[in-house]
Amino acid sequence: MKVACKVVIDPKWVPGGHVGDGFTIKPCKAERKVLRKRKRIKPSEWAEKHRVLGQESALPGPWRNDTAPYVTGILDAAYAPGVKEVDWCAAPQVGKTEAVNTLLGYSIDRDPGPAMLVYPDQATAKHNIVKRIRKGLLEPSPRLSTYLTGSEDDFSSNRINLQHMAIYTAWAKSPSSLANKPIKIIIFDEVDKYPKVSSKKETGPIPLGEKRLRTYKWSSKNFKISSPTIPGGEIWQALLGAQVVFQYYVRCPHCGSYQRMHFKQFRMPEDVRDTERIEAELLGWYECENMGCRWDDHDRDKAVQLGEYRDPVSGVEMFAYLKVHRPRRIGFQTPAWLSRFVTLSEVVSAFLKGTKEHGGSDWKEMAKDFKNGYEAEPWEDFHVQRDEDKIEAMCDERPRMMVPGPIDGLPRIAGLVAGVDTQDKSLPYVIVAFGYGKAEESWRVRTGYALTISDLEEILWGQTYKDAEGNEHRVELVFWDAMGHRTKEIYTVATQRRGRMLPIRGRVNINAPLTFSDIEYFPKSKIKIPGGVKLVNIDTKFFKDDLSTALSVEPGDPGGFHLYNKDEMPHDYAAQMCAEFFDDELQAWMQPSGRKVDYWDCEVYARAAWYHLGGSNREPPKIQRKPKEQIKQKQPTQSDILGGWRPGWFGTR
Ligand SMILES: [Zn+2]
Repeated sequence: MKVACKVVIDPKWVPGGHVGDGFTIKPCKAERKVLRKRKRIKPSEWAEKHRVLGQESALPGPWRNDTAPYVTGILDAAYAPGVKEVDWCAAPQVGKTEAVNTLLGYSIDRDPGPAMLVYPDQATAKHNIVKRIRKGLLEPSPRLSTYLTGSEDDFSSNRINLQHMAIYTAWAKSPSSLANKPIKIIIFDEVDKYPKVSSKKETGPIPLGEKRLRTYKWSSKNFKISSPTIPGGEIWQALLGAQVVFQYYVRCPHCGSYQRMHFKQFRMPEDVRDTERIEAELLGWYECENMGCRWDDHDRDKAVQLGEYRDPVSGVEMFAYLKVHRPRRIGFQTPAWLSRFVTLSEVVSAFLKGTKEHGGSDWKEMAKDFKNGYEAEPWEDFHVQRDEDKIEAMCDERPRMMVPGPIDGLPRIAGLVAGVDTQDKSLPYVIVAFGYGKAEESWRVRTGYALTISDLEEILWGQTYKDAEGNEHRVELVFWDAMGHRTKEIYTVATQRRGRMLPIRGRVNINAPLTFSDIEYFPKSKIKIPGGVKLVNIDTKFFKDDLSTALSVEPGDPGGFHLYNKDEMPHDYAAQMCAEFFDDELQAWMQPSGRKVDYWDCEVYARAAWYHLGGSNREPPKIQRKPKEQIKQKQPTQSDILGGWRPGWFGTR
């Protein structure tokens, strides 16, 4: 076969008077290999011939499609005509990274062009280019290793130059690593671990990387792979953007019926809930949806072997679907139990560990792990992290508006503060009494919704609050949310109540719990605020963390959180206090849509007010203690019980 080709050129262009009817260039070996017309083979066929897994792999040696039959369809669909993007949401143990490296190997050999691998961070990128690409993909494969140049200079910590193309790595935290190179194949690995984009102005790593594909508009490949985290995570959002998400249908080796494997068909013995025993004795099994056939691990492997991908909506087999619809962007979702490396018993056990009854203290973490790591589904934590019942158990018997009184003549209350949230039609508030000391024990004194500003002014400043002995307390400082539609009115109140009320706004990720801004003008106007006001910026994460910690204190322990009597507390106080949850992935407090959190916000502001006053540094006044006998003789009075430390326990202990 002749591989040299003749190039006809205009003689005028030829330097040095070299005149002729053209000259011959000789393509290098690698170019010849690519230029050569070869029979088109599918990536899965190519993989069995040329892909060899390196020593770092769980199963080193030649690639075998039957190790993970559900991968074969993904490989071949990725190079089906018209497909440009593959979004693959998968459990961690299903071999997705090796699969995507196989696709990279295929493109090096069959469809070359500059490639980029995007990892969550630089350390992962550095590690993977050596371990997964050089030693795991290129060097072990006799075919792919022929593209290596033989020069060590062609390997760097973020790039490999092959004879005919380059492989770059980039990482999500560095936009510059993603810029300025035309790319034909881009692989976004573990996208749910990418850092969140903090502002709308900032462009995320994925759109930045995707811009690189423009040069190869018609032949580019874009792969996004990850285990899922939450519904807002990158991979789940990518799946939602795909034109079709294919699901794997296994085929029962007993009755022959095709079905998707669902967790609800997993079984375990009625009387065993010991997860270690279930895993050790392989007590889990699977029940075929069609005939109730019982599968052990071996049957499951066979069922997967016989399976195929389908569009779950139409039921059409994947390659038939691809041929007819020619989608540009396709998705896959792969649960762990399709993998032969995950036993059915392991799945059952992982599920049990994520239940309140059978899991340990970290059952919730395990429930999330089961959802993400086995079902390959995002985790939605709409369960309350703080128990409503537990919050109600914090009620004592004090009447509403009563401050806890002294015990043995020792005052307990270091001060009263209030937090006010601002709604369009009402003003939710809490008045909180804080105890002495760093533990910041606290008692709700009054909570509710004021309808007008003057009503609220009466509640906050129009009266004093008494303990059972008649000692009077005033609200020392109010933190009042000034955002929303009523900023002007609130600034006006602030000018009238200087030193006793500060307008606030909630912020996240400011560099101190509280910062201050001087405001000279009313919002959206050129009208000066007489004397100006100080606006407090509150780091809401800081104070929400603090509040959440306070709520976790057992009743009676230092730092306890007390409500007044249950009958007078607002009926939905506990529910509002439990609505927000902390998202570990985002490292942020989240408010599920439709849930009210007014009191929660008010409590946050009240804590911030106490922080601003430096209340935890206050020393209790030295008071002459009564002689011991007198105390002993003293019977607990009604006021002790109503206003006492651990009310309700007094008589029973
Ligand atoms: Zn069956």
